[in-house]
Amino acid sequence: MNRRVFTRMFVVLEYAMSSHLTSPPLPPTPSIAIVGAGLGGLTLARVLHVNGISATIYEAETSPNARAQGGLLDLHEYNGQLGLKAAGLHDEFLALALPGEDAKRVADRHGVLLLDKPGEASTAKPEVDRGALRQLLIESLPTDAIRWGHKLARTRCLAGGQHQLVFTDGSTTSADLLVGADGAWSRVRPLVSAAKPSYTGTAFIETHLVDGATRYKASANTIGSGTLMAVEPGKGILAHRHANGNLHTYVALNKPEAWIGAIDFSQSAVALHHIAKEFEGWAPQLRALVTDSDTEPVVRLIHALPVDHRWARIPGVTLLGDAAHLMSPFAGEGANLAIYDGAELGHALRDHPGDIEAALTAYETALFPRSASFASQTAWNHQRFFGDDAPQGVVALFTTH
Ligand SMILES: Cc1cc2nc3c(=O)[nH]c(=O)nc-3n(C[C@H](O)[C@H](O)[C@H](O)COP(=O)(O)OP(=O)(O)OC[C@H]3O[C@@H](n4cnc5c(N)ncnc54)[C@H](O)[C@@H]3O)c2cc1C
Repeated sequence: MNRRVFTRMFVVLEYAMSSHLTSPPLPPTPSIAIVGAGLGGLTLARVLHVNGISATIYEAETSPNARAQGGLLDLHEYNGQLGLKAAGLHDEFLALALPGEDAKRVADRHGVLLLDKPGEASTAKPEVDRGALRQLLIESLPTDAIRWGHKLARTRCLAGGQHQLVFTDGSTTSADLLVGADGAWSRVRPLVSAAKPSYTGTAFIETHLVDGATRYKASANTIGSGTLMAVEPGKGILAHRHANGNLHTYVALNKPEAWIGAIDFSQSAVALHHIAKEFEGWAPQLRALVTDSDTEPVVRLIHALPVDHRWARIPGVTLLGDAAHLMSPFAGEGANLAIYDGAELGHALRDHPGDIEAALTAYETALFPRSASFASQTAWNHQRFFGDDAPQGVVALFTTH
C-alpha cells in the first residue's frame, strides 16, 4: 500500500471515528400512557407493539370481564378494518365475523317490511361481537401492557410536555405522552378542550330476550336474521337477532332528559310498561320487544360532541376515539373510527421517532377533518332516523348504502 493511499484511509477512518464519537445519542424512549382499554386505546397499544414501541394502558375496569361488552359492530373496509390490518389482526378478526347477521330490515309500526336486505357473504362490513373483538386485542398485547383497576382521577402538567396521572386509589405515574382513549366522559379531554358532550335528544332503552327466537317466534320472524329498524317520527324499535337465538333491542325515543329521568328503572316491568305506552297501536310482535325483557332495562342517553370538535396543539397530550369525537350511533362509525385513530396515531409515532410533537401534529392534522366529516354524516342520519320522513328516510338511507 503506498503512502498516499494509507494517509487517505487513515483520514477517512479518523473522520468516521470522530463523527461516531460526536454524533448525538439516540433519543431516549418516551414513556407513553394510554388511558382506556376500549377498542381505540387497545388498537393504539397493539400497533405500537408491532412496531417495537412500548406503551402502558391504564384502565378503570378491574379486569377484562368486569363488564359485559355486548352488542355487535360492523367493521368497515375503509377505516375499522384498516386499523385491524395495521394491528396485524385482520385474519383473526375475519375468523370472528358472524356471517348473515349484517341483514337489514326496515318496517312500519304494523311490522310491514319496507326494506328487506339479506346478509352478505362479502367482507366489506362483517358483523362481529364487540366483546370478542376487544378480547382479541387484549390477548394480542404483553400481559403487563394493561394496568387494570387504574381509574384516572386527575392529571397535572409537568415541565417539558410531561403529565402526571393521579388514579382514584391515590397511586400516580408520569408520561412523556398522555393519550386520552377514555371514551365519552374523558378525564383527559379537559387538558386540551373545554367541550362537553351534549344530549342529542334521543334515549335508548335496552332490552334482552334470551332464546327469543323460540319463545317470541313472531317477533323473531319479523326481525329476520340480522337487524330490524321499525321507526316513526320521534321513536323506533331497533332489534337484532343473534345466532344463538337471543333478541337484543334498543327502544329509541326522542324525549327530554327529564322525561327519562322521571322513570324508575329499578321497577323494570312498570318502567317498560310506561315506555310501551309510546308504542300503542304498534304490532304485538314489535311491542313485545319493549314490554318483555329477561334483564333489567339499560338506559342510554345518546350524547355527542360538537361536529367540528378540535383543539390547539398542547405538548405531550392528545385524544382518540369517543374522547375526541363522540357521536351518536346512527352511522355506525364510532368504534370504526376509534380503531382507525389508534392505528393512525401508532403510525405517526413510528414515523417520527424521538419527536412526539411532530407525530401529534401529523396525527391531529388528519384527525380533525376526518372526524368532522363522519360526525356530520352521523348527525344527518340521526335526523333521518326519527325525522318527519321516517320510516321512508331510513329506507332511503339503507337503499343507498
Ligand atoms: C348504543 C350504541 C350503539 C353503538 N353501535 C355502534 C356500531 O354499530 N358501530 C360503531 O362503529 N360504533 C358504535 N357505537 C359507538 C362505539 O361504541 C364507540 O364509538 C366506541 O366504543 C368508542 O371506542 P373508544 O375506545 O373511543 O371508547 P370506549 O369504548 O368508551 O372505551 C373507553 C375505555 O376507557 C375506560 N375509561 C373511562 N374512563 C376512564 C378513566 N377515568 N380512567 C381509566 N379508564 C377509563 C372505559 O372503562 C373503557 O374501557 C355505538 C354506541 C352506542 C352507545
